[in-house]
Amino acid sequence: MPKDTTNCRILSPEYESLEREKLESLQGKRLHDTVKHVYENVPMYKERMDALGVTPDDIKTIDDITKLPFTDKPDLRDHFPDGLFAVPRKEIVRVQGSSGTTGKPIVSGYTQNDIDVWTEMVARALAAAGCTDEDTIQITYGYGLFTGGLGVHQGASKLGATVVPMSSGNTQRQIMMLKELGATMMCCTPSYATLIGETIREMGIDPSELKLKSGCFGAEPWTAEMRNNLEGLLDFNAFDIYGLTEIGGPGVAFECTEKCGMHINEDHVIAEIINPETGEHMPDSTPGELVFTTITKTGQPMIRYRTHDICTITKEKCACGRTTARMGRITGRSDDMIIVRGVNVFPSQIESVIVQIEGVAPHYMLVVGRENSSDTLEVQIELKEDMLSDTVSDIENLRNKISEQIKSVVGVSAKVTIVPPKTLPRFEGKAKRVIDNRKL
Ligand code: AMP
Ligand code: ZN
Repeated sequence: MPKDTTNCRILSPEYESLEREKLESLQGKRLHDTVKHVYENVPMYKERMDALGVTPDDIKTIDDITKLPFTDKPDLRDHFPDGLFAVPRKEIVRVQGSSGTTGKPIVSGYTQNDIDVWTEMVARALAAAGCTDEDTIQITYGYGLFTGGLGVHQGASKLGATVVPMSSGNTQRQIMMLKELGATMMCCTPSYATLIGETIREMGIDPSELKLKSGCFGAEPWTAEMRNNLEGLLDFNAFDIYGLTEIGGPGVAFECTEKCGMHINEDHVIAEIINPETGEHMPDSTPGELVFTTITKTGQPMIRYRTHDICTITKEKCACGRTTARMGRITGRSDDMIIVRGVNVFPSQIESVIVQIEGVAPHYMLVVGRENSSDTLEVQIELKEDMLSDTVSDIENLRNKISEQIKSVVGVSAKVTIVPPKTLPRFEGKAKRVIDNRKL
């Protein structure tokens, strides 16, 4: 542990360290109330439960959760924007959304209760990383529909910390502010934190000239090696924090000083690990797909929401004194979504661009990498045979056109490489169109 962790603490021991039996009984009660609320207020849930012959009265304990239907991203798209709101619009005080996909994004509506719940979850995460009212916290997550900026902001304010709401980008300015205001904590994506750390070193600044002691980093997958590297660059403590818009944003789970998994805020969510093929529960510590049910949200509760994130969960008690279950690092996804520079990218979006462009065949590969701590995306596309006689400048024009289209439809810049006909792999079973060299 590179820095002082004396301020790291359990913010709400009455929940975070509650005996598991009592915690699970609380979860069962809250689950029943949530199911009743959505059954009475959201037609989609009523229809699905009716089809399965399940009523809210059948849901009394957490074991009953398996009687309930799953939900998934397409449900949110199909009911965009407010078809899954469980309260009248006037009770919704905020809408947040997920990065990436243009067209129909994923949005979530929050009541004041939901904002308070989310704020508490983030405050617990920040407190676990040592945040108190003595701290100055530079928030380098983006502010906007994305939950990172505002989420951490609320949590830090609840703890009385001095917030510097920088949002992301403009690395030189970030560093100037870190130095001048003497931030003791910083929060952003791990890749952006690494870039800031590397830039600080390149500028010849020694981390001892800064006051940074810790930070919470998430919104994208990262490895233990990346953490070691980041902690070395900035000589501080880097903690993992996990969340997703649909469930409430960052703070759904967070690391304690033991750094052996992220504690799930189980008084607010029920986490399950399922076999993505069969939907059945996996044993403790066995990898599978993470599924969440919110049990305190009122605006847009989610029942058995399939995150498609692959990880393990353990309910073994942690040395820190918390009794909540811990999830391991996200090691992959059960669908084909990739996260490039924080933007969710589906290969099908790129495909939809390619098939509309004359001159290229619908065969493509996406190669994701990481250079200078930033994600790179290369899109390899096959030229059609009848275009082989085209001049270099024709092909260059084609390349530029595809690149612009991808940027406008998907929202990320990609390097487009046009390859000769019939040179990309063909697939007999499921196509594997993504090569991820980031070693996550
Ligand atoms: P969004 O709702 O756009 O913020 O994206 C949520 C997704 O980001 C999650 O489903 C995960 O795939 C990913 N994510 C968030 N936090 C982490 C983390 N700490 N480690 C790995 N992946 C994360
Ligand atoms: Zn712990």
